[in-house]
Amino acid sequence: MSPRAGSGFRRDASGFPPNPVECAGGSRHALPRRHRLGDHGKLRGLVGLEICSIRGLHSKPMRFWSLIVVLIVAASLTGERGRAADTIDARSVDALTASARRAGLRVLEGDHLVLVTDRPARAGDGVEDLPRIFDEAWSAWCKHYALDPASHEKWRAFGCLVVDRERFRAAGLLPEKIPDFANGHCYNHRFWMADQSNPAYRRHLLLHEGVHAFTLTLRSLDTPPWYTEGIAECLATHRLDDGTTDGTTDGTKSRFVSTPLPLRAADVEQLGRIEKIRALRAAGECPGLADIFATPGANHRDLSAYAGSWAAVAMLSLHPRHAPAFAAAERGPLDAAFNRRLMETTGWDGDQAERDFDAFTDEIDYGYDFNRSGIDWTSPSGRPLDSLQTVSVAADRGWQNSGWSLRKGARYSLKATGRCTIGALTGHAAEPPMPLETEANGISLRWYRGRPLGRLLVAQWVENPGDGGRPRCVVVATGAEGTFTPATDGVVFCKLNDPPGELADNDGQLAVAIEPVR
Ligand SMILES: [Zn+2]
Repeated sequence: MSPRAGSGFRRDASGFPPNPVECAGGSRHALPRRHRLGDHGKLRGLVGLEICSIRGLHSKPMRFWSLIVVLIVAASLTGERGRAADTIDARSVDALTASARRAGLRVLEGDHLVLVTDRPARAGDGVEDLPRIFDEAWSAWCKHYALDPASHEKWRAFGCLVVDRERFRAAGLLPEKIPDFANGHCYNHRFWMADQSNPAYRRHLLLHEGVHAFTLTLRSLDTPPWYTEGIAECLATHRLDDGTTDGTTDGTKSRFVSTPLPLRAADVEQLGRIEKIRALRAAGECPGLADIFATPGANHRDLSAYAGSWAAVAMLSLHPRHAPAFAAAERGPLDAAFNRRLMETTGWDGDQAERDFDAFTDEIDYGYDFNRSGIDWTSPSGRPLDSLQTVSVAADRGWQNSGWSLRKGARYSLKATGRCTIGALTGHAAEPPMPLETEANGISLRWYRGRPLGRLLVAQWVENPGDGGRPRCVVVATGAEGTFTPATDGVVFCKLNDPPGELADNDGQLAVAIEPVR
């Protein structure tokens, strides 16, 4: 699974193992072969972190005679090696649980997860709560895929939270055919994960592997790796509601709340997906959507591939322009042709998705509000601005298409008037929040991305920025008045400077007058 933030990062385009679709091939009946199982799982992270690896039920049926040969070979094997190979799929959750109890491992049971661990019980570490949180997440996963929970109420995963692998091997719960994972490994309804020191990251890892178990078994998932890992990341990302909303502060009552796009960094300690996308952007190395769609599974060995897959699925799930087609594609077969199926889905617009993805990664932040930050691309060239024109800029939206186009090489003047609310100051709990007002120059009380909050920003979309990075909005003017030169031939976009997750509490608009300087 997914590596932690701060684990280091380096691009390495050489020596990728085979495509994981092939790696994951084989048959549910087949004797699992070490090299196959391991291909996806034995990819070394850059600081030794091993990434998530999975193996599913969906794998291609084996031909009859091949199956006979395999069965003969399997039958001829003796000792633990043979038994382990045969039993990864075959042993029931009850049988596995009995083995765990006999071995003296802790067994924590929920409705949909049996979690066994050799981790000593420690008050306040949250491990006891994991099966309950898993069950809450499971309901959210059913909802995501429009599955009736009642039809799958008997579904259970068997997870091992591992400190000492030898104890699990001795108990017969860690077959030697399972690759020597560093973070996690999922095999149909079974998963193994290395214990983590951070409770939030431990929960995330558990749920990430849980999504794999869910999708492999209930949706026969065999998709390209960006979806496999991206959906595991999105459906695992969450915050815990501490229960204060229902009148209790009892930590044991904290509830799973799905946040595919996390609202606050504090909710997802050590996850680092947003920070990684920002760093890739700053380095001019951020992938576009098409790059992510084509990313081999082998690349999912470092944080950047996970961050990219997560960002792609998050945008496609949450952006109002793309969510309906994406959801429709997700309800269909989750097979190796998923990319093609998505592109053939009614309502899919690949060009806009690519551009919207670049706009998203350009300004990615916690709580990014796709409803308010979605850009209207409908008049990409706009009408030529040959005389004074005044446009209205709403405070509660991201980049707004003015409909007017500027000419590179010309010079323009700008004058903005009006007053807006840009959030509120919260002080003492007993006092009502004080609306924070701004004019086009912004307020120096707080800065965002190097500029005062609320400051008017005027930009153009540049497909090939001078710094060589992905397409982005290039700011050409800011503030209440001045003159400026365009970055390109093209339409003007305006907005107030505010985090894209904090637009909902803004109000009002500015009037922005732009005219050519003769
Ligand atoms: Zn994974």
